[in-house]
Amino acid sequence: MKKKVLVIGSSNTDMVVQTADFPKPGETVLGGEFLMNAGGKGANQAVAAARLGANVRFVAKIGKDLFGQEAKKGFLKEGLDIQYLIETADHASGIALITVNANGENEIVVASGANMNLHPSDLPDEIFQNIDFALIQLEIPLKTITYIIDKCRSMGIKVIMNPAPAASLDKQLLASIHLITPNETETELLTGIYPGNAETMQKASGYFHQAGIAHVIITLGSAGVYLSNKKYAEIIPAHKVKALDTTAAGDVFNGAILTALASGEDWPEACRFACKAAAISVTRIGAQNSAPYLHELTSL
Ligand code: ATP
Repeated sequence: MKKKVLVIGSSNTDMVVQTADFPKPGETVLGGEFLMNAGGKGANQAVAAARLGANVRFVAKIGKDLFGQEAKKGFLKEGLDIQYLIETADHASGIALITVNANGENEIVVASGANMNLHPSDLPDEIFQNIDFALIQLEIPLKTITYIIDKCRSMGIKVIMNPAPAASLDKQLLASIHLITPNETETELLTGIYPGNAETMQKASGYFHQAGIAHVIITLGSAGVYLSNKKYAEIIPAHKVKALDTTAAGDVFNGAILTALASGEDWPEACRFACKAAAISVTRIGAQNSAPYLHELTSL
């Protein structure tokens, strides 16, 4: 049995309706077919890792409502260890209301609900026991993120932080992170440097290294990733694919990099593995469901 990896983060239900035009304030419009998809960065990344063969413990907070129950069924189907999933009667499960217009633009309202009420007191010490790698994002309270990072440091657990959605973070918080995986926008927000060429990628990575983070992977969309640590400072290109929907490419990349690092891959190989998984996901429409299974990676 493989050693467990830990993902702590959000679970949302995405509710999507297509419409010709967005309604103006006070207006009602008729939309197309209603679609409901499992989402939330935490859940997406946990599922991506599990599909690629990782043994994943997923910790999130959901409401005792219909959406929470459906999400839970999904986690079990994906083979996640959810023995520490928190179910609360005090808050609704996280949801995202998404409308997409004829131009493919979207308007999204997120009701974080239980996600933003995941508190340190919800996380017993057992969650962290016998774990080498933990993956977190920014869809839970900062106070809880700080607690997780401190706990992981004290227990020798390597923390991978995907700093999404973009938010500014205290330099002190960054100091105990093993690997940070921002995209270009998040890199700019956190470092003040847009990583548009080799020089600025190196400078932005330097900012993170100075803050105490040994390993940096900046994701560059269809251009791949920039890997920076003591041994490497290089772009690892993405696979050339026909992209249909890039939603959750970042989530698949993060789930995959966690899987590869936990199974002992070296840095360039882990990046190639994660780029491959993310490339497959962009050839498919959807978010969580576009995450590939391990056996599908041989098809690229
Ligand atoms: P998203 O918000 O869409 O989930 P992101 O902004 O967090 O994504 P990106 O840098 O856009 O992250 O993408 C993550 C990784 O996915 C990239 O580093 C790359 O490996 C892969 N990827 C994204 N877009 C493409 C593409 N068009 N073709 C091939 N691979 C892609």
